[in-house]
Amino acid sequence: MGSNNNNDIYLQVLLPVPTEGIYTYKYITDVAIGVRASVPFGTRTMTGICLGVVKKPDFECKEIINILDKELLFSGVWLDFLRRLADYYISPLGLALFGVISKKLLDSACPQNLTPPKTVKQERIELSAEQQEIAASISLGSYSAHLLDGITGSGKTEVYVSIIERALAEGKQALYIVPEIALTPQLIDRLKHRLGFDPALYHSKMSSKKRLENFWSFASGQSMLLLGARSALFVPSSNIGLIIVDEEHENTFKQEEMPPYNLRDMAVLYASMLNVPVVLGSATPQAESMDNALSGKYKLHKLRSRYASAAMPEITLVDMKRETLLGGVLAESVYDKLQQVLERGEQAILFLNRKGYATSLFCKQCGKPFECLNCSVPVASFKSSSDCVCHYCGEHYSNITCPHCGGKEFFDAGAGTERVEEFLEDMFPADVVRIDTGKITTIKQLDEALDKFNRKEAHILVGTQMVAKGLHFPNITFVGILGLDNIISLPDYRASERAYQLVMQVSGRAGRGDSKGNVYIQTYMPDNQLYQYFMQDSANFYEYELARRQKLGYPPYMKLARIVWTYTDASAIKNVADSIASALRATGNVEVLGAAPAVVFKIKNRYRFSLLVRAKTHNALKLALLNAVELFSKQKHGSMDMRIDRDPNYFM
Ligand code: ADP
Ligand code: ZN
Repeated sequence: MGSNNNNDIYLQVLLPVPTEGIYTYKYITDVAIGVRASVPFGTRTMTGICLGVVKKPDFECKEIINILDKELLFSGVWLDFLRRLADYYISPLGLALFGVISKKLLDSACPQNLTPPKTVKQERIELSAEQQEIAASISLGSYSAHLLDGITGSGKTEVYVSIIERALAEGKQALYIVPEIALTPQLIDRLKHRLGFDPALYHSKMSSKKRLENFWSFASGQSMLLLGARSALFVPSSNIGLIIVDEEHENTFKQEEMPPYNLRDMAVLYASMLNVPVVLGSATPQAESMDNALSGKYKLHKLRSRYASAAMPEITLVDMKRETLLGGVLAESVYDKLQQVLERGEQAILFLNRKGYATSLFCKQCGKPFECLNCSVPVASFKSSSDCVCHYCGEHYSNITCPHCGGKEFFDAGAGTERVEEFLEDMFPADVVRIDTGKITTIKQLDEALDKFNRKEAHILVGTQMVAKGLHFPNITFVGILGLDNIISLPDYRASERAYQLVMQVSGRAGRGDSKGNVYIQTYMPDNQLYQYFMQDSANFYEYELARRQKLGYPPYMKLARIVWTYTDASAIKNVADSIASALRATGNVEVLGAAPAVVFKIKNRYRFSLLVRAKTHNALKLALLNAVELFSKQKHGSMDMRIDRDPNYFM
């Protein structure tokens, strides 16, 4: 060991550590870029990826212990992709690697005898003319991006299957990415029967042994289809011919941990680097994606009708200002409707959201939320109307008056969701199945709950976001949405888009069989402009939403990033945040909102300050962010932390 041989080669190795992570080691021979190397790091050994040869440095280098790959696991394209990701999200490269491939996988070897996927008899279907035309227009072999806009049940999944089959027939592998929550047994089973084999699964709720096996199964080309959540995008293979991202609008596609990437955007980037098509699908595309489609960056395909023309449900707004409220949660008309549904032996879904963060204030007189005068987003209240603050710009408001009607009394609509569950279980004992993240933590539990509902042992499914996704129960004829006002009034410029998506998704659960469904939405503000779009063609909603974004200077028209600082000492971190905010503002190239205390001001005894940077171009934004990194590195002390979140999703 350690012999200083003139023939030594010096190699750069990328390690999964929370820094840039590029270190130089020596080795006896040159190796290919992208092979893994086991190296000494401090007192441990660690696995990294070789990035190439460098000149002999003027410091002493340790030796690579072992080269792990005979065949290349991480290709040059994969590494470039990681670099582009790190670059865009202003993340150190080592941290980016750490964030997308677990250490355990990085250390692992390809299992000796991988079980080949089980085969079953393939059940083919005939595509409709509309489906056929879309599938045929997506050609393999070169990059193109497609947005498949079709309501729930319109047959998007069948279109994906058809394109996947073509890719497989050409000997190419396919990546099929869905939000974790959409990885239902129903979807897996369907793909298996359509394609005639078990897709390899890849998500966080499976055993790590199985996950590792499926990683290698896809990486080695044994499995042709990888069906997984966000992290599946980073399973390397040199033979990928197609990428599908279903439910592209999903919030959970934005990774909140470092690096905070958006899966949809990264899938499009990766596809362009691999020179393969990428298909994004949704019943409610994100406004940004719709903008990309309208501007021609994505090709827009519409599936206009439900397959076998099952009717879309009818949506009714229930004006809560005129209703009797039962149990403090359920409008009498919704309760009556629910009883009728049960009498007919049909089934219902009741949706409520019970996110626990700060809530907005609504005027008791006109029902409108109180919005910040600078930012046009609802302000968040801590306790009462005498103490609220805008978490975009930090403006304080006390003793507010409603600018719409002069009302002086406000109520907060966020409370009471727990009560809904209790109330229903009281009213309809043994007929309620509840699914939410509090109660359901494994796929098996979800399976059991849904099974019970499927066997019609219970007729009411109560739940949070979980009920909104991908379920298919023909017997559901009624959907009650119990809380929407609090969603549309979150201090978040995307709040109205979220509410819209949610209503469309949940409504999609009703009337999938022969009977027409009904959707009732409980609201204190039935006159809100947004609510009118629920009953119209989706194009009208996007027109409204994009015009609103343009007017207020939000994405996609302006580029946005959020910076969050945390530290144990509130005033010290406030000073740092303020000084960086002023410095960025002084450049005149970007607009800076804040710094202000974050909505969630303290987490685990660390105080949080945040700001928003807004710029006309990606480039101006990036320069400002790099500037912030530089300024912070000069002022940082102790355990002070700064996080940059580009294209942020959450503002809490
Ligand atoms: P989406 O993915 O848009 O929600 P799906 O692909 O799940 O829609 O289709 C809804 C239902 O209609 C599924 O049960 C599916 O099998 C069925 N379906 C869709 N297209 C066809 C077709 N061409 N022939 C037969 N059944 C179809
Ligand atoms: Zn404000």
